[in-house]
Amino acid sequence: MRRLLLFLAGREGFRNFALKFGIFRRSASRFVAGETLADALEAVRRANGRNLLGILDLLGEHTRTPEDAARAAGEIAAALDAIRDWRVRSQVSVKLTQLGLALDPALALANLTALAGKARGLDNFVWVDMEESAYTRSTLEIVTAVHRGSPGIGVAIQAYLYRSEEDVRAMVRHGIPVRLVKGAYLEPPGVAFARKSQTDASYLKLMRMLLEGGATNAIATHDEALIDAALAFARSRGIAPDRFEFQMLYGIRRDLQAELAREGYRVRIYIPYGRQWYPYFMRRLAERPANVGFILRNMFKG
Ligand SMILES: Cc1cc2nc3c(=O)[nH]c(=O)nc-3n(C[C@H](O)[C@H](O)[C@H](O)COP(=O)(O)OP(=O)(O)OC[C@H]3O[C@@H](n4cnc5c(N)ncnc54)[C@H](O)[C@@H]3O)c2cc1C
Repeated sequence: MRRLLLFLAGREGFRNFALKFGIFRRSASRFVAGETLADALEAVRRANGRNLLGILDLLGEHTRTPEDAARAAGEIAAALDAIRDWRVRSQVSVKLTQLGLALDPALALANLTALAGKARGLDNFVWVDMEESAYTRSTLEIVTAVHRGSPGIGVAIQAYLYRSEEDVRAMVRHGIPVRLVKGAYLEPPGVAFARKSQTDASYLKLMRMLLEGGATNAIATHDEALIDAALAFARSRGIAPDRFEFQMLYGIRRDLQAELAREGYRVRIYIPYGRQWYPYFMRRLAERPANVGFILRNMFKG
C-alpha cells in the first residue's frame, strides 16, 4: 500500500483526476493549514499559543520554468516578511526543486542565496527539505555553499539513505544544522533501507551523532521510542535541552507535541500551506495506510 501511494504521488494523471473531482480536498485539510499565507499564519499563531514554534512551508515542488521558481522564491520571501509583520514565532522551509533545482542547479543556488540573505536580515532561519535521492548530493552542495555566506540555514537528512551517515558527518564538520527525518519518498533498494526496522536503527545512530555534534539540530519524528531514546541519550551525555529541538508535522500527534512542550522542550511544527498539496498529502497517506480509511470515511460523509 505504501509503495502504491508513493507511486501515485508522482503520477500527474492521477493528481489531475483527484484535483478535478476535489476528491481529497476535505481530507487534505487535516495535514495542510489552508491555501493562503494568511491561513498558515493563523495556524502558526494558534501553535504559538500552545507554546509551539512554527515552520511555514509553501507547498510546491518540481517547478517547470525559471519564472515559476522565481515566483515561489518571491512568495517565500513574502512569508518571511509576514512572519515579522504578524509577530509570530516561525521559520520557513523550502524545497530546492521548488526553487528550480531540476531545471538548473545554478538557479536553485541563486534563489536559495537570496532567501537565506533575506532571512538573515530578518534574524530568521531557512530549512531546506530533502527530496528524492536524485537530488541529495546537489542539495547538500548548494546548502553548504549558501551556509558559508548565511549561516541561518539548515537541511533535512533522511535516515533511510545508506549515504546519510557520511552526510551527517559532513554537516557536523561544517556546523550546518540538520533536521533528521526517516525519509518519505519511494526509493530503490540500491540507495535506501527497505525495512522500517533498518531505517529506525539508522535514525537512532544518526540522532546520537547529531546530539553530540555541536549545532542546534532537529529530531523530526513522531516515533515515541526514538523521542524517548533521544531524551535518554541527551540526559546521559549532559546535553542541555536548548542544544536541540523536536519537529513534527501539522496535524500529526498533537498530543505528543503538547506533552513535549509542557515538559519544557522546544517543539516546532511544520505547517504546509498553498494549492499544490497533492504530493505532500499522498506522502502523509503513505506513512500510515490507516489514513486511507480516514479518507474513505471523509469522501462518503454528507
Ligand atoms: C518536521 C518534519 C519535516 C520533514 N521533512 C522531510 C523532508 O524534508 N524529507 C523527507 O523525506 N521527509 C520529511 N519528513 C517526513 C519523514 O521522513 C517521515 O516520513 C514522517 O515523519 C513519518 O515518520 P516518523 O518519523 O513520524 O515515524 P513513523 O514510524 O512513520 O511514525 C511514528 C508514529 O507517528 C504517527 N504518524 C507518522 N506519520 C503519520 C501520518 N502521516 N499520519 C498519522 N500519524 C502518523 C503514527 O502514530 C506512527 O505510529 C519530515 C517530517 C517532519 C516531522
